[in-house]
Parts: sequence; structure tokens; C-alpha cells
Amino acid sequence: MPARVVFAANAIEHLPREIEQLGARRALVLSTPQQEALATDISKSLGQRSVGVYPHAVMHVPIEVARKAREEAVRLGADCVVAAGGGSTIGLGKAIALESGLPILAIPTTYAGSEMTSIYGLTEAGIKKTGRDPRVLPKVVIYDPFLTVDLPAAMSITSGFNAIAHAAEALYAENSNPITTMMAEEGIRALAQGMPEVATHPRDLDGRSDCLYGAWLCGSVLGTISMALHHKLCHVLGGTWNLPHAETHTVILPHAMAYNYAAAPEAMRRIERAMKTPNAASGIFDLMKQLGAPLSLREIGMKQDDLDRAASLVMEAPYYNPRPTTRESICGLLDDAFFGRRP
Ligand code: NAD
Repeated sequence: MPARVVFAANAIEHLPREIEQLGARRALVLSTPQQEALATDISKSLGQRSVGVYPHAVMHVPIEVARKAREEAVRLGADCVVAAGGGSTIGLGKAIALESGLPILAIPTTYAGSEMTSIYGLTEAGIKKTGRDPRVLPKVVIYDPFLTVDLPAAMSITSGFNAIAHAAEALYAENSNPITTMMAEEGIRALAQGMPEVATHPRDLDGRSDCLYGAWLCGSVLGTISMALHHKLCHVLGGTWNLPHAETHTVILPHAMAYNYAAAPEAMRRIERAMKTPNAASGIFDLMKQLGAPLSLREIGMKQDDLDRAASLVMEAPYYNPRPTTRESICGLLDDAFFGRRP
């Protein structure tokens, strides 16, 4: 990957050096409103190299938010953006970079993985469009496990399953290769090891480091190869019904694995080895249950009446998938996910 990665407890201290090495002098620091204090601390630590904080990132990068942030970057004469937060904040950085070409320094504080991809998303009139552009791939990524200890345990767990989903689908992608396969299996292993630790000791650095290392691997494979049915389902459910991103990935994952189980035996053996479970689909479900994750679409806001329409939307423009998809089979998968049945 062309990005430079700095990974260490307290790695945030190296941000001024990293900005200097990029030849930049005027950083605009981005965050969500919830993480403004972090952005302000970062801005202060940069002294004259910071032109200010823009704490207005929100989920799915609405075009109006992107436009205002782009205007602010121009007004302040920013020559780089520092995106400190999860996928929403890094997504806003990407929206700025897409238009201006400004380099992004990403400081991820969740496990979503956007920092490792050249994929961007923008939402206009309620429709989320995604694309790929090399300009939006961060130039530097700083992984600092200390910055993740405040991510609440429940969010950490769903974010971890979001990362596992990237790796699980990478294992049966149509364009997978031996290197991404190795990275995907190791990413799942690291997260499956770290997540129980994070659930019980959220401030412990070992579990946090395992999860962040897993997120790096899972984000890298997401950025390298194409995804399948699981990501299509989550894109439709998140985009059309505004379901929460990481929770949706969590609830769908065991059912997507059950759906593809017989069609992707090698991928399933790797997931089973990484998670130390005899069955990839039920093993993921059982870990979700053990860690207190949501298990059903109904508990995260989906209406049963909308399942049919969701299946139709998935079938309108299906992704490649190892097992062929039909409207009926997708309805069955969604019904299982709606009620949270153990696969
Ligand atoms: P998020 O960025 O929306 O964060 C969720 C909430 O958690 C926010 O309020 C945030 O401020 C808070 N938060 C984040 N880290 C925290 C921490 N360490 N401590 C306390 N609070 C913290 O959630 P996400 O799941 O990281 O990102 C979801 C978005 O990212 C979606 O829009 C998704 O489509 C996008 N995404 C994009 C890609 C890509 O490659 N382009 C990849 C994955 C996700």
C-alpha cells in the first residue's frame, strides 16, 4: 500500500513530524462534534502548523457537509487535512481531498478501516454514492491504541465485526490473491483475540492493540479487492433505511456466512481456524452473543414490512457472490437476520 503507517501507543506524538515530512504547514483538523475535544488537543499540539478545527463530520458524508468543509479548507488556506476519528471523519477528509487533492493524515479511532482505502462515499438527496479515487487514499495513517480506549465497549464490538466482515468477504472475493487471503485470515484472528479483551477491559492496551492491528489488516484488504453479498446487503440497508453502519454489518455477517457456507469452503475453513470455531457462521453468531452485540435487524430499527423491498434492491444491481443470489434466497437470509436466528 502506498500509505505510510505509524503504529504505536502514543504514536500521535509523531504527527508534527509526519506533517513536516509531507512538506505541509497548514493542517485543518477534522472530527465529529462528539470528538471535538480530541481534535482541539491535536490542533493545539500542532501549534502554528494547525489552521483550525472543523468538528462537523457526520455519518455518510452528506454533500452539504462536504461542500462547507471544502469551503472552510480553502478559506483557511489548508495544505493538508488531519482526520481524527472513525469512518465518518475520514470520509469527510476524503470528500475534501477528492476535490482539492490535499493530502490526508488519518488518525483512526474505530476499526472501520476507511483509512486504508481509496473508496469515498457522498450522500446527495438521500442516496449514497461510492467511488474509488487514488487522491482520497490517506498519505499517512497513525494508529494509536491509546486513542481508542474511550470508544465504548458496545461500539468497539460492532466496529470489530465490521472489520471482520471486510476480511471474511475478502477470503472469497472474485479477485482475491494469496497475499490478501493471508492478511484477511490474520486480521480476523487478531480481532477475534482482541475483542473479548476489549469487551471486558476496554481501557487495556493489549486488546486495543490487537483490534487496531486487525483493523489495519481488514481495512487493507477492503481497499485492495472487491466485496460481495454481505457488503451489498449492508449498503442497501444502511443507505435506504439509514440503519447504523457497524451494527448492520454485525447483524448481517453470520447470515451472509451461512448463505455462502457451502459455496466457499476454503474461506470458511480459514475463518474457522482464525476464530477457533468449528463453524464460521454459528461461530461468529456465538461470539456476537458472548460479547453482547445486537443479533437481529429488528433491534437496530428495521421494519419487517421493508424486507421484501430490501431484497428487490439487492437484486437490482447484485455484486459478484460465490453462491448465486435469487430474490427468494435473499428474502430467506433477511428473514433470519431480522429475527436473529442462530445459523
Ligand atoms: P463513525 O465514524 O460514524 O463513529 C461513530 C461515533 O463514534 C461518532 O460519534 C464518533 O465521533 C465516535 N467515536 C469514534 N471513535 C471514538 C473513540 N475512540 N472514542 C469515543 N468516540 C468515538 O463510525 P465508523 O463505524 O467508524 O464509520 C462509519 C462510516 O464510515 C460509514 O459512513 C461508512 O460507510 C464509512 N466507511 C467507509 C469506508 C471506506 O473505505 N470508504 C470503510 C468503512 C466505513
